[in-house]
Amino acid sequence: MKYQAVVNYAPEKGCVELRDIDVPVIGEDDVLLEVVNVGVCGSDLHQWTADHSWPVNYPVVLGHEFGGNIVETGKRVTNWKIGDRVVSETAAIIDVNNPMSRRGLYNLDPTLKGFGYGVNGAMTHYVKAPARCLHHVPEQLPFEQACLTEPCCVAYNAVVENARIKPGDRIIVLGPGTIGILCAAVAKLCGADVAVVGLQTDIHRLQIAAQYGCDIITGDATVWAKEQDGLGADGVIDAAGNSITLKIALDLVRPNGFISKVGWGPQPLNFSLDALVQKNVRLQGTFSHNWPVWERVIALMASGKLDVRPIIGGIWPLDSWKEAFEKMHKGEVVKSVLKPI
Ligand SMILES: [Zn+2]
Repeated sequence: MKYQAVVNYAPEKGCVELRDIDVPVIGEDDVLLEVVNVGVCGSDLHQWTADHSWPVNYPVVLGHEFGGNIVETGKRVTNWKIGDRVVSETAAIIDVNNPMSRRGLYNLDPTLKGFGYGVNGAMTHYVKAPARCLHHVPEQLPFEQACLTEPCCVAYNAVVENARIKPGDRIIVLGPGTIGILCAAVAKLCGADVAVVGLQTDIHRLQIAAQYGCDIITGDATVWAKEQDGLGADGVIDAAGNSITLKIALDLVRPNGFISKVGWGPQPLNFSLDALVQKNVRLQGTFSHNWPVWERVIALMASGKLDVRPIIGGIWPLDSWKEAFEKMHKGEVVKSVLKPI
C-alpha cells in the first residue's frame, strides 16, 4: 500500500509534487507515527522556491512540524506504546557522541540531519521518528495546535534561553512571520512591553500580532524604542530573514541592551558593527531547540498560556498542499497547516 507525500525532488525552483511512497520501515529505536497534522514552515517554502541555503537530500518528503499517533514501536522502544499522542523534535539524525550532544545541545551537533531536508519529513500519512525525539501531547491539546510546538520552541529559545527579558522591558520584534509573532507572544509571557515591526504590506500579519497584546508598527520603530527614556529598546529580536535588519536592530537597541538574531539572511552585511561595540550590545544567534525547551513549551500550550490559534490561517488536505504553500508565501496567512488523514 502506498500513500501520498509532498516530495521535494530536485534543487530547482518549484520542484515539489505529490508522489506515492511506501510506509517507512522503522528501526529498533524508532516509532512509526500516523501523522494527524503538519505545519508548513518557511523553510519548506524556501526549498519549494529553491532559495534555501542548506543541503537537501533529494528526493525528500517535506515537513518537520508535526504530531500524530504512534502506530508501531521498534524492538528497543520501551517508554512509548501504540496509541500514544506525540509530537516530534526535528533532530532526526544526530551523533550521540558528539560533544554538543553529550551536553544536551544535540541541536548544535554539526552532523545533525533534520526532517524535511536530511530525512523524510511528515507531509504524508506515516513518518518514522526516533523515540528520543518524542514528547507526549496532553489530551486537551488538539494536534492542529500541537503540530506547531516546533516553531514555538524556536521562539522560546530565541526569547527565553538566548536572551534575558525582565518584566517591563521594552522589546522590539522585527518581522511578523510565524517566528516573529511567536517570539512576541513569548516575550509578553516574560512580562515585556512588545512591539512587532513590519512593512505596510505586512499589515494583516501585524494585526494577528496585535491579538497577542503587542503594539504594531509599520516602518520606523525609533519613536516606540525611545518612548521610555530616550535611549532605545532593552532588546531587539531579529526574526525578519534579511541581513539589513541587523542594522535596524543596532539603531533601535539601547546601550547595554541585547539583540537576539533568529532570522536568517544570506546577504553580506556591508555596514559597520561599531555601534555594537560603542553601545556594549550583546548580539546572540539562536538556532533550533532541545528537550527541556520542548517540555516547557508543550506545558505552556496545554495550559493555554501560549495560544497558537491566532496564527493558524487554515487547514488543508495533502492534495491541496500548493494552495497552503501559496497562501503562506504571499503572506495571506501566517501559518498553513496540512491534514494528511
Ligand atoms: Zn519550522
